[in-house]
Amino acid sequence: MVTLIDRRNPGETQRPRHPEKAHRPDQPMPAKPAWIRVRAPSSSGYLATRAIVRENGLATVCEEAGCPNIGECWEKRHATMMIMGDVCTRACAFCNVATGLPRPLDTDEPQRVARAVAALGLDHVVVTSVDRDDLDDGGGAHFAATISEIRARAPDTSIEVLIPDFLRKHGALDQVVEARPDVLNHNLETVPSHYVRIRPGARYFHSLRLLQQAKEMDASLFTKSGLMVGLGESRDEILQVMDDLRSANVDFLTIGQYLAPSSKHAEVKRYVPPDEFADLKRVALAKGFLVVAASPMTRSSYHAGDDFRRLKAARAEEIARAATP
Ligand code: SF4
Repeated sequence: MVTLIDRRNPGETQRPRHPEKAHRPDQPMPAKPAWIRVRAPSSSGYLATRAIVRENGLATVCEEAGCPNIGECWEKRHATMMIMGDVCTRACAFCNVATGLPRPLDTDEPQRVARAVAALGLDHVVVTSVDRDDLDDGGGAHFAATISEIRARAPDTSIEVLIPDFLRKHGALDQVVEARPDVLNHNLETVPSHYVRIRPGARYFHSLRLLQQAKEMDASLFTKSGLMVGLGESRDEILQVMDDLRSANVDFLTIGQYLAPSSKHAEVKRYVPPDEFADLKRVALAKGFLVVAASPMTRSSYHAGDDFRRLKAARAEEIARAATP
């Protein structure tokens, strides 16, 4: 559960973390079932990761989104860097990242992210960002600079970017793809019928087309997308999204349970049991995704390094099969 007043910077005037949500009626918060497990973050690995993140003055989506996997991921030094600040110009109904007018871009940030990646000794890093609708290029150049700095400081680290939709930011996607990340992820988040309620600032077909364009620009790029379930979507709607993603040549699908950050966020309509996730995974693999991660605790960056290795192996197998007479 989060507080709606952000007290992280006590010296500053307190500002609402979610001003647009503060006056919404409280939604029911159903008790979590036994299969939603959250480990308290306290290990030495967790503390070491936190120290490196703090030393480099970085934000992480792990903390800002209140991710339930933080104890497990940070113990293994897997932190997902969130660039371009910790304030987002959008106000999605599922998200815990603060909404407001962000500060100007910090041009030293790409170097600091690269230093932290090298210090953490990561095989694979995930870099994401807030939405920056206030910037002319949506932050495309900043993403590209971050990729280049990581390549220079940590050349053996594979790089996954989890990008915003760059709506009305012509050329932004090109900048990111030209910087040659290994994996380009953009989450559809939910089924199209829920967009107006859950992602009001986004457009379903724009997001889908963004993924398709990335693959058209660079066929060697792995593309990835994710869905939350438990928001009231039907099984048919989920299967339709899978088909849409395969039409856009997306390689990797993640599906996880939506958890409400507070009673002011969208309501959890249902906790989807683990066997339904297993069934969705089976169907998605049959539809042609190279890799599918689907479980209640799956998040886009959860086990991303292991999944990247599986992606590469699955593509190599596919190429070998196609070459066999
Ligand atoms: S699942 Fe992703 S966002 Fe959550 S703690 Fe792990 S790396 Fe961070």
